[in-house]
Amino acid sequence: MKEIESKLNKKIYYSIVWTVIAIILTGLFADNPRLNEFDLGYVFQLITGFSLSVCLLLYPKKETDLIRICIIVLASIYFYTLFLLYPETSSNFILLCFIPALSILFFNSKLFYFSLYLNAILILILFTYVLCVSNDHAYVNLELDLIGNFINFIASQVIVYFIFHLTNARMKQQQIYYEQIQQSERLKTSGQLAAAVAHEIRNPITVVKGFLQLFREEQTSLERKRHFNLMIDELNTAEQVISQFLSMAKPEQEKITEIVDVREVLQSVTDLLHSYGLLHDNRIELKVKGDCKTSANIIELKQLFINLIKNAIEASKIGDLVVVSAEVENDFVIIKVIDRGRGMSEAEVASLGTPFYSLKSKGTGLGLMICYNIVEKYNGIIDFESKQGEGTTATIRFPAVNKN
Ligand code: ADP
Ligand code: MG
Repeated sequence: MKEIESKLNKKIYYSIVWTVIAIILTGLFADNPRLNEFDLGYVFQLITGFSLSVCLLLYPKKETDLIRICIIVLASIYFYTLFLLYPETSSNFILLCFIPALSILFFNSKLFYFSLYLNAILILILFTYVLCVSNDHAYVNLELDLIGNFINFIASQVIVYFIFHLTNARMKQQQIYYEQIQQSERLKTSGQLAAAVAHEIRNPITVVKGFLQLFREEQTSLERKRHFNLMIDELNTAEQVISQFLSMAKPEQEKITEIVDVREVLQSVTDLLHSYGLLHDNRIELKVKGDCKTSANIIELKQLFINLIKNAIEASKIGDLVVVSAEVENDFVIIKVIDRGRGMSEAEVASLGTPFYSLKSKGTGLGLMICYNIVEKYNGIIDFESKQGEGTTATIRFPAVNKN
C-alpha cells in the first residue's frame, strides 16, 4: 500500500521528518556532555542518528519493507543508545516504551509484531545488563525499582498494542468500504452501459423480426418455413433476455416502495399465470393465511413471484399441482412456492441466481438473479429446498409491516 502518495501527505511527512532530524541534531550538539569527549558511544549515536535520518528521508521514494525494517531497527538502536549513554536523562526510558508505536505509522501488522518482539528482547537484555553486568550504579532510576519499571514497560506495550489493534481494524474496515464503493461504482457504470446497449439492440431486433415474419408468410416450402420459425424463435429469446435485463436496470425513481398486501399481489400473479399453467395441465393453488403486508415495490414483487411460479410450472410434470402459500410468522411474511417437479441437485441449488445459469433450452438464466436482487433490496431472504425427482420449495421471508 502506498501511504505517502499525495502531495499533501508528502509535505506533512517531510515536515515531520525534518522536525525529527532537528531534534536528533539538537540532542547531538546542544549542551551534550559527550560532545567534548567525542568517544566511541557518541560516534555510534552520531552514525545511527545519521542513518535513521537518511532512511526517513529516503522512505517516500522507496516505500519498501526493507526500508521500513531499517527504520524500526535503527530507531530501536538509537533510542537504546540514548538510554545507555545518558543514564541521567531518566525520560529516555519512556522513549524505549514507545518504539513499537513507530511501526503503527506503516499500517503493517507483521512489522508491528516484529517491532514489538524486538523491543521485548532488547528490554530483557537491558534489564539483565543493568541487573547483572553494570556495577557502577549508573542506572539508578531503573535499579531502584526494577519490577515497577518492568511492569510499566509491559503496560506501555499493552497500550501500544491496543492503539495498533484499534487503528488497524479501522483502517481495514475503511479499506473494505472503499473497495466496495469502487466495485459498486464500476458495476453501476457497466450496468448503465449494458442497459443502454441492450435498449439499442431491441429496436433492430423488432424490425428484423417483423420482416422475418413477413417473409415466412411468403414461403411455400415447409423446410423454408421451419428455418424462418427457427430464426424468429431465436430472436424471441434475445428479446426476452433484453427485456428481463432492462427491467432490472430501470431508474430508481420508477420503483416506489409502499406497503403491499401480499395476498392481493399473489392473487393477481396466480390469475395471470393460470393460463400459462394450463398449457401443461398444471393448476396453481393459492393459500394465504392472515394479514400479509410488507414494504416493497408492487411491480418488483409481482416480477419476483412471476419468476418463481413460472419456474415451478416449467419444472412440473403434466398435471402436477403448484402450491403458493403465504402466512405471517414472528414478524415475517413467509411466502412459499412449492412444486413436485424435477427437483435439483445440491450443486444446481448452489448455482441458482448466477447470471445466465439455465438448464432450459430456451431459458435466459436471468429470472432468479432478478429474484435474488429484489429480495435483497427489501431486506428479505430467499431459500431453496429441493430434492431431485421430488420437487422444490422456494421460501421467501420479508419483514412484515403492521398497518392498522
Ligand atoms: P430460466 O428460467 O430462464 O432458466 P432462472 O434464473 O429462472 O432462469 O432459473 C435458472 C435455473 O434454475 C433453471 O434453468 C432451472 O434449471 C433451475 N430452477 C429454477 N427453479 C426451479 C424449480 N422450481 N425446479 C427445478 N429447477 C429450477
Ligand atoms: Mg425462470
